Amino acid sequence: MIPLSMLLDDAKCYDVLRGLRWPDGVACPCCQSSQVSKQGRDTTQPARQKYRCGACGRHFDDLTGTIFAGRHQPLRVWIGGLYLMGLNLSNCQVAHELDLNEDDTQRMATQLRSGIIASEPTPILSGKVECDEVYIVAGHKGHPEAVRKKGRKGRCRRLKGAPGRGTLEKEKPPIFGMIERGGQVVLRMLENVQQKTIRPLVQAIIAPGTLVYTDEYDIYSRLPEWGYDHKTVCHSRGEYARDEDGDGFHEVHVNTMEGFWSLLRSWLRPHRGISQENLPLYLGFFQFVHNVRRRGRGLLQPMLCALLTGPVRNTV
Ligand SMILES: [Zn+2]
Repeated sequence: MIPLSMLLDDAKCYDVLRGLRWPDGVACPCCQSSQVSKQGRDTTQPARQKYRCGACGRHFDDLTGTIFAGRHQPLRVWIGGLYLMGLNLSNCQVAHELDLNEDDTQRMATQLRSGIIASEPTPILSGKVECDEVYIVAGHKGHPEAVRKKGRKGRCRRLKGAPGRGTLEKEKPPIFGMIERGGQVVLRMLENVQQKTIRPLVQAIIAPGTLVYTDEYDIYSRLPEWGYDHKTVCHSRGEYARDEDGDGFHEVHVNTMEGFWSLLRSWLRPHRGISQENLPLYLGFFQFVHNVRRRGRGLLQPMLCALLTGPVRNTV
């Protein structure tokens, strides 16, 4: 068998990485000086260029200070893994495609997801914002310590989750979503949905005075007190959109958030049985995917830019 990673070229991967990391020429990661001289190649990875900074005298190379530095796997495996994550393959599928061990792949994917999430500044939402929550069944798969602490045996079958609204404790954590119409989304896994839990989040993410649409669940009832204009849609009356001013536009709805939940559901489908320890990573990653407005192959560049240089929006 010829694994995909054998067909990927390290030299090309380094070219791409240098182009994204230093679009205006190599700069010292420590003092940002561009007085940099080449100092030969890495002995084990010949595509990896070494440099010396003429200003501060430090030595560095293509990977210094990036998430890819000091890794056992060659760069082409990391970039191949990132590409496949953009196609939304499960860790198990990525391991298979790259001919890697599953534990190594799990670690690599966790580091990549965490790096991407850390690079994204938390958006501030304004204009018209919808808030809503869903509940995702998530146990402690792969975390036997946590299962033991709950005083029960590990399960062989899929978790069903407790009926009704969930909590983290009941292994059906609430996922709280805030989305600006035509804009960005912010997702958080919460322990529960109480006013005191959502208040600091709402106030950190949504600009004061914003018009916020929600359903009639009472956790949202104090939004006016917290400094927001608030409109509700009553799901129990079968009312999903209301035309308040009679102009034919049905603006009181949380359809944007509900449409988003169905995208999230499809995105999470290949990753069976995500544990509650890992769920925030998957949510944060999908938040990034949604906010850069790319899918599939188009995601590789924004993901690499995020990992190499921090947030970059709307790159071609
Ligand atoms: Zn320097």
